[in-house]
Amino acid sequence: MARRESTPEAPGSRALIVDLVRSLGPVSRVELVEATGLTQPAVSMIVRKLLDDAVIVEVGSAPSSGGKPRRLLDINERAVVGVGVQMGFESVTFVATNPSGGVLARQGLPGAQDDPPEAVVRRLADSYQAFIAASGFDVREIVGVTVAVPGPLAPDREGILEAPALPGWTGFALRAELDSLIDAPVLVDNDAGAAALGEFWSRGVSRYSTFGAIYVGTGVGAGVVIDGALFRGASSNAGELGHVSLDPTGPLCVCGNRGCLEVLAGPRAVVSSARNDPRIGDLALSDDPRHVLLDFEEISRAAIAGHQGASDLVTLSADRFAAAALTLTNLFDLDQLVLTGPALLVSGALYVRHVRDVLQSTALARRAHPVIVDISANPLDSAAIGAASLALQRSLAPGHGPAITDTSSRPQHAKGDPHLAGRR
Ligand SMILES: [Zn+2]
Repeated sequence: MARRESTPEAPGSRALIVDLVRSLGPVSRVELVEATGLTQPAVSMIVRKLLDDAVIVEVGSAPSSGGKPRRLLDINERAVVGVGVQMGFESVTFVATNPSGGVLARQGLPGAQDDPPEAVVRRLADSYQAFIAASGFDVREIVGVTVAVPGPLAPDREGILEAPALPGWTGFALRAELDSLIDAPVLVDNDAGAAALGEFWSRGVSRYSTFGAIYVGTGVGAGVVIDGALFRGASSNAGELGHVSLDPTGPLCVCGNRGCLEVLAGPRAVVSSARNDPRIGDLALSDDPRHVLLDFEEISRAAIAGHQGASDLVTLSADRFAAAALTLTNLFDLDQLVLTGPALLVSGALYVRHVRDVLQSTALARRAHPVIVDISANPLDSAAIGAASLALQRSLAPGHGPAITDTSSRPQHAKGDPHLAGRR
């Protein structure tokens, strides 16, 4: 296991200990010393503070060779609650999770549709209050609310830069508007990145694992978690796998490039091909190009049931996803890759099979280590669960990367995020 240098004073040390207890727990102080390379007094000091803050709890003892029994530590499941909101054109989902990523409450609502952003945010605020009241949480338990949206994100994660699925939201200050209406700190994040962190967190993946997730909603994105933190890039827009070009002479994409994964093989592309394919004429597809997910689900069901035309379309899409997944895996030397997102609710296993086959036979580092490929346990809600995990991580394990802990150090966004600074 790799060692990471860290000092007890740094917020990173607290994040390190929380992350190890989260992924290894129940775990003893001795094991934490061995796993971190920190000194025994430093670990004891951080553990004492985390026990005082009720972030972790003692859960019994383990026999020790010769000495006194070692007290075991684990994450306090009842410490706090994070709320995640997955906002899309077709649906909005609220979830509340505990610090292990376990879902405590869930509610599905109609999507943003074509309504003005101001009206949707008022609806979100009302729905949030009703959700918290119905779930029986004490508002003091809620550490934060993260709204997961389709990317790319505006600077400082204030809202949406431009999402084809939500065209009216460009320039709208989603984070500030919702924050002014509810009594909890609000963050906005990319749905794919949120889903990656959520899968990492709820699966108890080791922080020393290089972990990736491919998220397929109406669009296609990805997130990579390195050393326990979501890799963000310069503007929190890393991981735009949907805009990796597989064919530079291919069809024009909304991003301006040609032959991107999303325009060749995303749900919108598959549905569009199906509409123009006489072999798919017997399927009940909508005439509304905005109901991509419903139509993609219909095609996926037919493919799995053995409909030849549907199967050909979905298989071609899965092959292209496998090619893009290989690129992502080779770029980051991933240990583990999870496929998730609402579009994969029906056809996830088929996509996983294609991705797994390609990675096993062609990933560059395959002789050094295997790459584990899985489908999410909850592809429909993974962005909402991940959004809740981001709120929890920021509260329980602050110190995961400059975008979360120190926006003032970012010269291109000198204003930083005064809201975050005030709540830290
Ligand atoms: Zn593109």
